[in-house]
Amino acid sequence: MKALVIGGGGREHALVRALSLDPGVTSLHCAPGNPGTSELAENHVINVTDGLAVTELAARIGAELVVVGPEAPLVAGVADELRRRGIPVFGPDRAAARIEGSKAFAKEVMAAAGVPTAEARVCRTAAQVSEALDLFGPPYVVKDDGLAAGKGVVVTEDRALAERHAHECGRVVIEEYLDGPELSLFALSDGRNTVPLLPAQDFKRAYDGDRGPNTGGMGAYAPLPWAPPGLVDEVMETVVRPTVAEMDRRGTPYQGLLYAGLALTSRGVRVVEFNARFGDPETQVVLDRLATPLGALLQAADTGNLGGVSALEWRPGAAVTVVVAAENYPGDPVRGDLVGGLAEANAVEGAYVLHAGTAWSGAHDVKANGGRVLSVVGSGADLAEARERAYEAVGRIELRGSFHRTDIAERAALGRG
Ligand code: AMP
Repeated sequence: MKALVIGGGGREHALVRALSLDPGVTSLHCAPGNPGTSELAENHVINVTDGLAVTELAARIGAELVVVGPEAPLVAGVADELRRRGIPVFGPDRAAARIEGSKAFAKEVMAAAGVPTAEARVCRTAAQVSEALDLFGPPYVVKDDGLAAGKGVVVTEDRALAERHAHECGRVVIEEYLDGPELSLFALSDGRNTVPLLPAQDFKRAYDGDRGPNTGGMGAYAPLPWAPPGLVDEVMETVVRPTVAEMDRRGTPYQGLLYAGLALTSRGVRVVEFNARFGDPETQVVLDRLATPLGALLQAADTGNLGGVSALEWRPGAAVTVVVAAENYPGDPVRGDLVGGLAEANAVEGAYVLHAGTAWSGAHDVKANGGRVLSVVGSGADLAEARERAYEAVGRIELRGSFHRTDIAERAALGRG
């Protein structure tokens, strides 16, 4: 199988790596990719939100599977264009990707499908905002209705800040606060049939102890030793299958990955958000554990053949990923500094470095070129070992001003959720 991965972050490096380990994948391409993917795949520089450019590239290399990583190309209709040309693609059409592109739409689908989620109001005016904030009370949860790369959400006790964020966004969703631990469950869907991947947890805040601003994600681990038994089945039953069935009923079948961000509240499981693609950095740890070859699996989702896939195989043990972020992330990150220690980090047993915001500096050196620069993965017999290996490798990375969280998977490794 010839495969093309769209995107250039840590998630895409993880996808390329997993596909490179699939014996059925004979040729691997990535657009635009990054210096990390270039070691496993041929990188192509194109505008990935341009459906015609992506289709042209896919046709030229004879791609038999295109995997779309980020949300922007999906919301721009890149998967529609590929399907129109008969090129197999893993990723929902534009109409189905609205489940991520519009939080108001996601709420509407969940209401119609009877999926448990936070009570919410869609607000456009200051009066509506004020009324909704009164209704739900603090802590206030205010979400930009459009795509904001996980950074459009403000959760705060500060009423003035909540109002200011709503004013800056325009159309917002204001909702009840959900307590309890969060987790992510990814499910593959072929439009009708669904298969769950391993639940994972990510760390959204920039600094240790869940302090600081929200980010795209500073680390993740899988599996979740604290997750109640039967959780995956329950989420498939109450969240994933009803949502996929509702999308099918609307004539916009959901083919690709449905990412359910969940809160285990005192009143049961609630959906925090849906995403229409693999999560970053959870993908890095979930794919590290996957033993089933990835290529055929993703192709089955496009051809309506997931019904024939029984349970997936997972490697025993655990994985932890720690993101190395550039100075000043998630503000305006410092770019251009050289990244050292990559070979040394990759030499740590059970650990490897996935590139995210990196670029070539000359022919051999790598420089920081984004907020989340690297996603370092440690894999081991249990979370404690995986963690140790990830941090050993992180310690070997040299990047001026960079920072990382030191508490990724710490509580879980100690047996506390
Ligand atoms: P979202 O972009 O909807 O995933 O929100 C980003 C993050 O904000 C989530 O991962 C949660 O940590 C937090 N969040 C979102 N909605 C809620 C809510 N209703 N209650 C508590 N926290 C929330």
